[in-house]
Amino acid sequence: MSYIIGKACIGCIDTGCLNVCPVDCIHGPIKTDDSGVGAKGLSDEEKQGKQLYINPDDCINCGACEPECPVTAIYHSEKDAIRAGEEEAVHKNYEFFGLKFN
Ligand code: SF4
Repeated sequence: MSYIIGKACIGCIDTGCLNVCPVDCIHGPIKTDDSGVGAKGLSDEEKQGKQLYINPDDCINCGACEPECPVTAIYHSEKDAIRAGEEEAVHKNYEFFGLKFN
């Protein structure tokens, strides 16, 4: 189980979540291993169509990121995301890290 970042993050990339994750498992929007460093300082134009992702293999489900997101893009689990109609987001989070959600 992992927290999942949904489509509300697309174009927003607030980055508040990056500052609180104790295991630095939130990455993107381009690099899969820079803990979102590349996300900071992006212009609004550069953020278009992009989002952050949580590595499902590394997330310890602490919940610290969820309240930090101003657009409530973060779901408690794959199940919660799917229940909210965000199945695509679940797959995107996994696939960004070369993983597959079953
Ligand atoms: Fe990081 Fe905790 Fe959020 Fe998982 S739930 S992405 S470990 S802050």
